[in-house]
Amino acid sequence: MMILDPDREDRLPPAQPQRRRGRPHEDPFLCSGRDSPIRCAACKGHFTAAAHPRGKTYGDGSVRRHYLSATYGGGCGKTIADQRILDRAISAMTLKRLTDPQQLALIRKIQADHRALREPHEAEISRREDLRAYWDKRLDRGVITIAQHDEAVRELDAAIVSERRRLAQLDTIPVPDLDDKIIGQIITGWASASPIERYRDLRRVWRGFQIFVAPGSSTDSEEEVRRRISRPRPIPSSA
Ligand SMILES: [Zn+2]
Repeated sequence: MMILDPDREDRLPPAQPQRRRGRPHEDPFLCSGRDSPIRCAACKGHFTAAAHPRGKTYGDGSVRRHYLSATYGGGCGKTIADQRILDRAISAMTLKRLTDPQQLALIRKIQADHRALREPHEAEISRREDLRAYWDKRLDRGVITIAQHDEAVRELDAAIVSERRRLAQLDTIPVPDLDDKIIGQIITGWASASPIERYRDLRRVWRGFQIFVAPGSSTDSEEEVRRRISRPRPIPSSA
């Protein structure tokens, strides 16, 4: 009874990502999807793609589609733009992000700041693990009893657990996992990538950021659509 809809995945509860395995989106639309960085400027909702109501086609014969703000995600349902035109504009922004020195510097800074947040906790874990290894060795050699060992490592273990928890919290901050190699692969592969690869790369490139598109006409030109696209904005962090 499942209706085959490119946005079908949207309706699955987000808490069960493993259900996606083996049967991912079939030809997803670049800018649609609940987890998309591309959002409606009016309601902050995500997009879905709809076929032209009277079956109008593009030059190559496939049915025209336009994005609209997805009402089933609680969005406003307004029309955003022609699908191919918005895809082109967002593709260009994405590739520009990966070649623009200022944007790359910002990505590097976000990564460095995040590493700096993690470092003291990692150092603390490693220091306490060394201490624990010392007590383990003493126990192995029979220098101390099990009870003495328990006593010695109890606080260490509790501290390690708590430091790990802090690291796990920090890891919920969305940080782009882009390095030179991945960036190069995305740039050179973008044009020939499959829709699903581009869909994934888009999320990768904009991790931690959102781009808002103001509602408008599905007949707007690319130039007009570009004017309705916001600059990328960092997602406010709660961690
Ligand atoms: Zn909306």
